[in-house]
Parts: sequence; C-alpha cells; structure tokens
Amino acid sequence: MMQPVSLADIEAARRRIAGRIEPTATVPSASLSEIAGVPVFLKLEHRQTTGSFKLRGASNAIAQLSAAEKARGVVAASTGNHGRALAHAARLKGVRAVICMSKLVPENKVAEIRRLGAEIRIVGGSQDDAQDEVDRLVGTDGLAMVPPFDDAAVVAGQGTLGLEMIEAVPTARTVLVQLSGGGLAAGIAAAVKGLLPSTRIVGVSMQRGAAMKASLDAGRPVQVEELPTLADSLGGGIGLANRLTFQMCKNLLDDVVLLTEAEIAAGIRHAYAAEREVVEGAGAVGIAAILAGKVRLDGETVVLVSGRNIDMDLHRGIVCGSWADATEAR
Ligand SMILES: *Cc1c(COP(=O)(O)O)cnc(C)c1O
Repeated sequence: MMQPVSLADIEAARRRIAGRIEPTATVPSASLSEIAGVPVFLKLEHRQTTGSFKLRGASNAIAQLSAAEKARGVVAASTGNHGRALAHAARLKGVRAVICMSKLVPENKVAEIRRLGAEIRIVGGSQDDAQDEVDRLVGTDGLAMVPPFDDAAVVAGQGTLGLEMIEAVPTARTVLVQLSGGGLAAGIAAAVKGLLPSTRIVGVSMQRGAAMKASLDAGRPVQVEELPTLADSLGGGIGLANRLTFQMCKNLLDDVVLLTEAEIAAGIRHAYAAEREVVEGAGAVGIAAILAGKVRLDGETVVLVSGRNIDMDLHRGIVCGSWADATEAR
C-alpha cells in the first residue's frame, strides 16, 4: 500500500541528517532474552543527543526548510523532548527557534530548553494557549511551525531508526515501539516494513490516556482525558484533524499493547538494574511490555528505548522502591 511517507523518503532523510544526529547502538539483552525465550535486542536511542529520538525528526524538518524559511526561524509548542530537539537542531544550523509554553511549566524544564538556545515565550495557562501563540507567530513573524509528530518530514526523520534497527538485526521478526502521537511508530513501521514486509510492529502505550489506541479502536481520531503518568512523554492527543499518523498507524501497526503504571515502573527499574541504563517512563515501555508478558514473540525482537529525560528524584524513588503507585491506588 502507498504510504504518505515511503522507504525512499526515509532513506533521503537519513542522508540529510547524517552528521547532525548520532547513529545509536543496538545491543543484545541477555536478561530480556532469557525472560522472553527469544533473542531480544535493545535500540539505545535514549543516548541520542538531547536525550531522545526527537532530534531525528526535528533535524530533518529543519534541513527541508527553504532559505527564506531558515532566515525567519521555527516555532513549536512543547515542554519536553520535541522542544529540546528543535532548539538544538535549530542552533546547529544558526536558525532562530521559539518555543511556546504555558505558565504551568516548571522552571527547570523552561531553563533546559533555554540553555539549548531557544527563545522561550510563556503564555497563558494551558497547552492550547501555547499553541495559539504558535499560530500567532506563524502569522506575524512568518515562523515555520515544526509539529511534534503529524508532519511528513518529522515522520521520515523518526523512520531512520527503523533503517538502523534492520541493519543491526536483519532477521528481526518483531519490533516494539512507543506510541503516542504516532510519528515515531509510523516512521519506524514504514522503514521496517519497506525492508522486511513480514516483520510485526507492535505499538506500546500507557493505559492512562492512550489517545492513538482509542482512535484506532474508534476508527477515527478521538480525544481522551489526559492523565498524569510515568510515561509523560506519551501524553497528549493525536489531533482531531490528524493528517498523517493516524492513517499510517492504522495501516502499518500489527498490534497495540497498554501498560499499567506499576508495569512502567518495573520497566524503568529493569533498565537500571539489569541493563545499567537511566531511562524515562516512555522510554521503558517496550522493556515493560516484555516483562509484563503482554506481547507474543516468535523470534528476534528489537525493543526501542526512546528517551532518558526523567526527573532524577523520581527515578531514584522508582529504582529504590519508595515510589508508590498512587494513581492506581485511588
Ligand atoms: C515523543 C516521544 C515518544 C512518542 O513519539 P510519538 O511520535 O508522539 O508517538 C516516545 N518516547 C519519547 C521519549 C518521546 O519523547
């Protein structure tokens, strides 16, 4: 089936972002292979510059701007990994980046993105207010909006992970990938299935606010209530006017599994204790899905570790066992 982002688009993205991102290692996991009974490999993308894969999509989007767009700059509403990635990718190319956030964003998050070279605009009391400011700046300053997932250049950039996975594990039968807005899963699925059509792609989300899963079940983009979760980078909706990622996930994902907060905590703990890796909640959901026995595996399996930007006090609480599952106790 023709997809809006093809294998050729992803290969072009890879050439475009070469030298601006780190190709990351794919390593066998002895502990997860023993638990799963099949060879399990971890794609260590949490070690990417800025701490997540979002640098791939942001770098590809910036590389595809016209000279006039580059001269004016880019803008996004993001408090997290997309904001960091866009700030870093823009600075590398000498492009102005404006990141819009609401007043509710904690000062340490604001400072991190400012340190990466972005201009910060604090507006209003919600993510919607921040998005209104983005739309305003697109109009007044002619800035180019770089969306976090629903954009062909962003999807193609994230898809470069799939090329690296299959080069490292050419016989992969299953790939586990985080699922939120779906830019990551759509890109990886297009790359992997473009190279190895019979490889299964399984999306993994948290139970608390899984917008893409709810949308796939409904057959159209739907809104879900946003709830606090350890996998905070997987929060947020897919956009009721979703253009690309809903269709691509519908066409390309073989299955979606959902995890409890306790299961996600176990994934973070396992990453630290058994793999010696500091991983954020969203980054650990693939590992967590294997530990929870929630995916059927029939051969070589590649598990994406997507990010490491977790509050270190929270991380300490989880790995020391003092973190309590307050959300599910209610
Ligand atoms: C953004 C993000 C995801 C989800 O990516 P989508 O393209 O929105 O599905 C997963 N893990 C981490 C660490 C992220 O920052």
